[in-house]
Amino acid sequence: MRQSNFFAPTLREVPADADTKSQQLLLRAGYIRQNAAGIYSYLPLGLKVLKNIENIVRDEMDKAGAVELLMPALAPAELWMESERWFSYGPELMRMKDRHNRDFALGATHEEVVTDLIRNEINTYKKLPLTVYQIQNKFRDEKRPRFGLLRGREFLMKDAYSFHSNKESLDDVYNKMFTAYSNVFTRLGLNFRAVIADSGAMGGKDTHEFMVLSEIGEDTIAYSDTSSYAANIEMAPCLNNYEKSIDEILTLEEVETIDKRSIEDVASYLGLETVKCFKSMLFKVDEKFVLVLARGDHEVNDIKLKNLYSASNVELATEEDAKRLLGANFGSLGPINIDTNKIDIVADNAVAAIVNACCGANKNDYHYTNVNINRDYKPTIVADIRFIKEGDASPDGQGIVKFAKGIEVGHIFKLGTRYSEYMKANFLDENGKQQPMIMGCYGIGVSRLISAIAETCNDEKGLVWPNAVAPFDVHVVVVNPKDQDQKELGEKIYENLMSKKCKVLLDDRNERPGVKFADADLIGIPVRVTIGKKSAENIVEFKQRTSDEVIEITVEELYNKI
Ligand code: ATP
Ligand code: MG
Repeated sequence: MRQSNFFAPTLREVPADADTKSQQLLLRAGYIRQNAAGIYSYLPLGLKVLKNIENIVRDEMDKAGAVELLMPALAPAELWMESERWFSYGPELMRMKDRHNRDFALGATHEEVVTDLIRNEINTYKKLPLTVYQIQNKFRDEKRPRFGLLRGREFLMKDAYSFHSNKESLDDVYNKMFTAYSNVFTRLGLNFRAVIADSGAMGGKDTHEFMVLSEIGEDTIAYSDTSSYAANIEMAPCLNNYEKSIDEILTLEEVETIDKRSIEDVASYLGLETVKCFKSMLFKVDEKFVLVLARGDHEVNDIKLKNLYSASNVELATEEDAKRLLGANFGSLGPINIDTNKIDIVADNAVAAIVNACCGANKNDYHYTNVNINRDYKPTIVADIRFIKEGDASPDGQGIVKFAKGIEVGHIFKLGTRYSEYMKANFLDENGKQQPMIMGCYGIGVSRLISAIAETCNDEKGLVWPNAVAPFDVHVVVVNPKDQDQKELGEKIYENLMSKKCKVLLDDRNERPGVKFADADLIGIPVRVTIGKKSAENIVEFKQRTSDEVIEITVEELYNKI
């Protein structure tokens, strides 16, 4: 490609609204342009990177035995109603009407469409298992589209779906996908971890997320400092290994705590440790009110709460609810004298282990001390309901938990029969009996990967693409195209390298050398070949983007090297 008629508009200034390094660089180097919040055009350079990533993903999917197809982005609402996600997916699902006033959804994901497709074509165990995939734009009206391609409203995803007649077959394909995903992210040169995840709105059980470790990641990973254990903190279980103290059980006391609302204030006022205090929070779990008790130094994990109740929605109750139902403001809530026919009490395992605890008295400005489980309050459920913390024992029993930030680039789920049951995707088994198909689904954020790679592969001068995804292999920069020797040598090298299947960008523009070198660094092609004053002697400069070293070599040496 000749840069003189290419379209790669570079910017000297850092765009004001670019909030991450990757977004700044992708905009400045002319890879992408924003059309609206979370909606982008891929300029020629960006499209090449996107295609390279796509092809690596495609290659690994094919090797794993998945077959490519392409489904429509636009799906009739009826399918989403059959799965009931039309009602549960919320405002992220982009909905629209056609000219006949019929409802449609722009695909946020394709479980419904693919299940419909397969149920109409496959009805016997003899044709299972089957894994299909597509690489296609997805639409999600994200609440906070940001970080460029990391969280878009229209983005490119690889989504695969597998159909099985038995669980063993699903396990087998799940493991193959796990390997394929690991291969993809390794080939992309990413520092990633496969972490145990929450299955959220998808409604599955076994699931892993693939996370690229990065400071700008929106997810927090809890990992063991000694084993390979890693889990999303949304999900990481806390070991129930709390020691119950052997203190003598004391008499319950009500104490005045005027204007002491936070755990810290109450604890220091009463001369107690925060680990002796309950954090009592009133939640609304679907239609039920639940008072959740966590230890003063712990945080309630609403996802664990949601899973505990198999609920579809969990939110904090309002302070008005608290006053009406418990008789006090947020700072003075507690589990004593609650009508558990009306309100459930869920105590975290750590809370159940506290002897002589302190909690709110459901009366403003009062607390109880020497509170003891079963004598003073009876939880409806005792469970693991808190977020794991750094320094906790690792859930696998090996080592201590540490935290890292991660960007989710892939996600694999065992869906089970969630969709096949709702949508009646059945097959006849060996005994001629109707069974719902068992399913898995597997996603990779193809466009998100551009940003994830750019975020880690850069320096102060610009992007530094790994060979596997770089838009070109070699950037040939002709310092002065008006010089006949330079111009001719540039053309010759360009033609020769291309005949060897090398992807070359030839900078034949009439620009100042400083501009050309700055652009080359910004664009970040792995190898730069500079054609300058010594072209009459057949000598050029060779430089790798990852190093500052410039070496002079003959054109023949260059061909051998590349
Ligand atoms: P997130 O938690 O980041 O919103 P998700 O759990 O909603 O992701 P999935 O539904 O599992 O994502 O989608 C599969 C993959 O698609 C994700 O692993 C991610 O890489 C990518 N992805 C999801 N949402 C977006 C988005 N808004 N923009 C770009 N890529 C996305
Ligand atoms: Mg999401």
